[in-house]
Order: sequence, then C-alpha cells, then structure tokens
Amino acid sequence: MRSAPSYDNADLRRLDVAHHLPPQQDWALQKNSGGSRIIVKGEDSTIWDAEGNAILDAMAGLWCVQVGYGRREMAEAAFAQMSELPFYNSFFRTAAPPTIALASRIAGLLGGSLQHVFFNNSGSEAVDTLVRTARYYWQARGEPQRSVIIGRKNGYHGSTIGGVSMGGMVSMHNQGGPWVPDHEHVMQPYSFEEQRPDEDEDMFAERAARAIEDKLLEVGPERVAMIFGEPVQGAGGVIIPPRGYWSRVEEIARKYGVLLGCDEVICGYGRLGEWFGFQHFGVKPDLVSMAKGLSSGYLPISATAMADHVVETIREANAPFVHGYTYSGHPTSAAVALANIDIIEREGLVDRTKNDTGPYLAKALQSLADHPLVGEVRSLGLLGAIEIVSEKGTSSRFGNKPGLAGAMIRDACIERGLMLRAVKDTLVMSPPLVITHDEIDRIAMIVRESLDACEPALREAGVTSL
Ligand SMILES: *Cc1c(COP(=O)(O)O)cnc(C)c1O
Repeated sequence: MRSAPSYDNADLRRLDVAHHLPPQQDWALQKNSGGSRIIVKGEDSTIWDAEGNAILDAMAGLWCVQVGYGRREMAEAAFAQMSELPFYNSFFRTAAPPTIALASRIAGLLGGSLQHVFFNNSGSEAVDTLVRTARYYWQARGEPQRSVIIGRKNGYHGSTIGGVSMGGMVSMHNQGGPWVPDHEHVMQPYSFEEQRPDEDEDMFAERAARAIEDKLLEVGPERVAMIFGEPVQGAGGVIIPPRGYWSRVEEIARKYGVLLGCDEVICGYGRLGEWFGFQHFGVKPDLVSMAKGLSSGYLPISATAMADHVVETIREANAPFVHGYTYSGHPTSAAVALANIDIIEREGLVDRTKNDTGPYLAKALQSLADHPLVGEVRSLGLLGAIEIVSEKGTSSRFGNKPGLAGAMIRDACIERGLMLRAVKDTLVMSPPLVITHDEIDRIAMIVRESLDACEPALREAGVTSL
C-alpha cells in the first residue's frame, strides 16, 4: 500500500479550528477535539489520513463514491472537457455536448416515461427543483391549490431551506425555521422501532402505507401535490421498508391522482442492486431526484428526472420555467458523470452488487447477529445497518440519551481502520460498489472487535448513567 504524502498535520488541524467551519457538525466538539481528521488520499475503497493511517471507507465518502477512489479515467474526462470548454451556461438556448449526452444516458437508465432530465449541483438542489416542478405542474394544470407534499418523519432530503422543509428530521427543523409550508410528514416504515409485536411484515407495511393515505384524507386529496420519499431511507438509519410498502404507496398515489416522487440520491446508481431504488421496489415515480453516485462524488452534479406527462403539461403552459442554476448541466461535471456511468457499466457494478457483493455483505452482517450488543442487522444491496441495543431481544438503547453507544462503537471502528457512520445507535454503511469480499470480511471483523472492546464500558456505565 502506498503511504500518504506528507502534510503538516498539526498545522492543518490548527487552521481547521481557526478558519474552517465543517458542515453538519458540533463546532464546539471540532474545537475541543483539536480539529478535523485530515484525509489526504484515496484508492479503491481505502482512504488515508495525514498520519498515514489506512482506513477502509465503508461509507464510500458520503454514500457516493460508487467506483472507488483514484480513477484516472475520471480525472482525464475532467481534464479533456476543461481543456475544450470548462463551462458554458444552459440558460439562453445553448447547451454543451456532455450535458445533452448525460441527459440522454440517464433517461436510458431510468427507462419508461422518465425521459427528461434537469441538472443541478447537489442533492438538495435536485429536491428543490423537484418540489418546484411538482407545484408548478399542478399550477399548469389549473389546480394551484395542490401544494401539499407528504413525506416521512426522519426522511432526509437535503439541507437547503427546501430540503429541510421536505425532510422529516426534527433536529433540523429545530434550527433556523420557519420552514416552507405545506410539507407533511407521517410515520416511517422502520420495523425495528415501529413494528408492533402483534404485527407481521404485511400488517406493518399496510399500517405504514395507510399513514400516508390517512394524512392525504386529513389534508384533503384535492390539496395534495405529491407523495415523496427515499426508496430506502439512508441518512435516517438505512431504513429498509417492509415488503409491499412501496406498491401500496404507489397505489395510494394513483387512487387519488397525486404525483409520486422518489429521492434516489443514495439509492440511485446501483446501491440497491438496480440502477435505481424504484426499480428494485417495482414502482413508477413521476419525479426522481438523484446526485451522489451520479458522479461518484468526483465533481458535484445532481439531476431531477421527470415523466413525459409532467413535461408535456409544463410545455403546454407555454411559459418559461423560471428556475435553474448557473451551473445546471455543468459540462465538466457532466463529462465526469458520463465517465462514471461508463465504469459502472463496463465493470458490471450494478449486477455485482445484486448478485455477489450485496448477498456477501448480508452474510457478513448476519455473522454479527449473535453479538450481545446487536439487536438487528439488515442490508439491501450495499446498504447495511446494525442496531446497537442494551438488552438482546429488545430495542432498548444504552444511556439516557440515544446515540452515545453508537458514537462510541463508531469511533472504535475508525480507530481500528474502518470508516462507518452512526445514526444515533444504528451503525450504517454504504461501501463503494468496487468493494471486495476480503474487504467485506474485514468490515465484519473490525465491527466485532469494536463491539467486544466497547461492551464492558457500556455495561459498566449502565442504562441510565451513560
Ligand atoms: C445526501 C442527500 C440529499 C442531499 O444531497 P446534498 O448533495 O448533500 O445536497 C438529499 N436526499 C438524500 C436522500 C440524500 O441522501
């Protein structure tokens, strides 16, 4: 393994505290811990920090580096496009070749009537575009009162004002509101915490879907624009819905004639073993947001895909859609996304996730299910989760505040060379689609070692005092 180039780590960490404000973080903790861990290099599924530690990146950056790190082909695509035409806008009836080529390529992967693609720069922006489109669509159809969007509690749809409004994260709603009106959130299909002892999987799926229908009836079906959700909730804790849930949700959307939207920012680009999560669950959304795996994170780019009937309706309105970003369809980002899709296709990474590494990860996680701290393991494709509990056979957590045990075990994993995330007391992972069997074995081994190492301290601190 190559070692990292040398940086002055102490100096960088000092400057980090002095000047760099990290996103989604406790800035006091950043300061008190002496600054961020400096990551300097990546290759395949491994990253290196400035102290030369190799860390297996079971988070694929942030759910996004599908093709792994260090792909020259991606750098070369960026170099070639930047040399030819780094940027040009798409506002004034102009467009660059890679922008159009990428739109067409994405349409091919989506299939069906999802044949139209609008570009943005981030997942949050893709979601903002999707909301504006849904509401504008109903305005164009002469039903402007249809502005309500029904999502799920604990859903994650980004960090812009629009994304937070659309999402169902209470911790985010508690800071910086008020939020955009007409966003409703109903129970999440989170069986580990929400399924009742007297319910089987089908009954739970029915109740969770029914929550959407109940909300729709409560608001008034004539006021609802869209039902929207992540096929599998990622940031909320890799919440894999019960069998039949998405079909029921689609049925409800069709029954009341409202739009169905899927946030594919994590599930898209092979993560669940299909190009998109909705394909795995066998539903047909009208609107789809995507980002992350679209470029494997090599450059920022996102997209909002729209069904034929949505675009036809908006075209019939015969007025410009006054929405878009300077960098919508950025030619260099588009060229890199095309190279990324080339790699995913050429290396068969979607099939490999479905038929090889996905099932292999499921087995590896299953090998941890007997651990006294593990309440449940679950996975779909290359998204996985481990629930940490204080009492086997229950969903009771350690401590008087959720998340302490999760953070402790996550840190123990990182110390042992494995990067994963803790969503409160759920350890989550989303490794690059190029991950190998050996690396998956290593994930399971390091998680077990970390569980073992943390258990005495967790038991000693007890349920109430931690
Ligand atoms: C990450 C994420 C977003 C936001 O994407 P950004 O690029 O961070 O703006 C939106 N939706 C889902 C499902 C995500 O996972």
